[in-house]
Amino acid sequence: MKVRMNSLTSLLFPSCPDVVIEDVTLEGNMLIFSLHSTRRAVPCPVCASPSTRLHGSYVRKPADLPCLEYTVRLHLRVRRFLCQKRECQRQTFALAIS
Ligand SMILES: [Zn+2]
Repeated sequence: MKVRMNSLTSLLFPSCPDVVIEDVTLEGNMLIFSLHSTRRAVPCPVCASPSTRLHGSYVRKPADLPCLEYTVRLHLRVRRFLCQKRECQRQTFALAIS
C-alpha cells in the first residue's frame, strides 16, 4: 500500500491539521517519525494574545510506542514563542504540535 506523506499525517494525527512529517526513518525494528507544526501564530497560554515571534526550538522525544512488530519513536520539533503582550507575566511558551 502506497500512502502519500500528507495523507499519512492526517491518518496518524487527525486532530492536528498543522502537523508535518519531515522524515520517516527505519532503524532495525524502530520507525522514527520526525514532526513539526507549521502554525505561524500561536496564542499565549496566559493572555491568549497571538504570537509569531520565535524564541528557539528543540526536539522532544516522548516514550516509544509499540506498533505491530515495530517500535515507534516520535521526534517532535518543539518551538518556543515570545509573548508579544508587554504586560503579560509569561515571557515564553512552547508549542509541540496542535
Ligand atoms: Zn501572554
